Amino acid sequence: MKSNEPIAPGGVIGILGGGQLGRMLSLAAAPLGLRTAVLCPDPNAPAFDVCAHRIVGDYTDVDALDALAAHCEVVTYEFENVPVSAIDRLSTQVPVRPGRRALAITQERFEEKSFLSAAGIPVAPYACIDAEADVSSALKAVGLPAIIKTRRFGYDGKGQRLVRTADEAFAAFRDLRSAPCIAEGFVKFDRELSIIAARTPDGTCATWDISENIHENHVLRRSRVPVPEAIPQAKHAQTLAQTILQALDYVGVIGIELFDTPDGLLVNELAPRVHNSGHWTADACVTGQFEQHVRAISGWALGETTRHSDAIMTNLLGEEVDAWDSLATTSRTKIHLYGKRDRRPGRKMGHITRLLPPANS
Ligand code: AMP
Repeated sequence: MKSNEPIAPGGVIGILGGGQLGRMLSLAAAPLGLRTAVLCPDPNAPAFDVCAHRIVGDYTDVDALDALAAHCEVVTYEFENVPVSAIDRLSTQVPVRPGRRALAITQERFEEKSFLSAAGIPVAPYACIDAEADVSSALKAVGLPAIIKTRRFGYDGKGQRLVRTADEAFAAFRDLRSAPCIAEGFVKFDRELSIIAARTPDGTCATWDISENIHENHVLRRSRVPVPEAIPQAKHAQTLAQTILQALDYVGVIGIELFDTPDGLLVNELAPRVHNSGHWTADACVTGQFEQHVRAISGWALGETTRHSDAIMTNLLGEEVDAWDSLATTSRTKIHLYGKRDRRPGRKMGHITRLLPPANS
């Protein structure tokens, strides 16, 4: 979009990243008459099956970035480890939404925690560890047990260690190759929740119902809605989401992971993109997160987020995807397979959403 006008049907959205999120964004763009161009280094990327323009290239390849910009009215990203330099290159040619600031903050855990604290958002106690000399003071600040996390490139529990003693903390820091880390106080949460929210360029916000998320081996296994036992938390989560979106001057969909503790909600992590714990919205709501992201970054009005069904979303990991034929005969179940050719143990290969009539209907 070379102006503030909404992108008209026929327009093209650029996506950095060709994984399942890029694929589902591309699929959601089509009914709005919009097309996508995807840049990804992997020639077999799932999004390449369903986009209008495929660019195989690295995110640091300026020719690939310029080729992407040439196709598009707006560019977005489907994962937070895109180098900020790619956004800088693209932004001189085309709007990038969400913007550089949201990306830079959310790809660095200390920046993210500092941003949240400054915005008055409750987070677990945290402290920086840049070198071994910082370990003792960091543990003093956050207490034990603690979690040592690398500041960058952590996901699905990678790059983090639970420590119960100072010796374990030193060992963990070394084991993480002495990369810049943060120590976080271990939170005794009752459950993990998340809220997915969206914001347009003119500041209109929308949120969906909160979901409860169950992880196994640090990977999301299941999200369920509603969470009837968490009605006050839902209200609080909405307020937190709006504060975060405004403080970031955010455009698009954001995923906000929360710890529900006896002392209230804490924000664990922000994902500046559509989020796995929001996949259920695509099947159980008037407007799902993928369509909403496309609408928001294209300058369209947001769609209604009302939920018409209760839902349980379950990720299909590794060989679980082989059950597609029996899943196809399961009632009230929507199947989403990502078309990944390489089926590794634990890899997210697809998900299903089981829909149930709303409990209060
Ligand atoms: P993260 O990569 O920060 O999303 O962490 C992955 C998972 O580790 C979370 O979903 C939690 O289950 C757990 N976790 C992360 N940070 C903490 C913490 N400070 N206290 C307790 N559990 C945590």
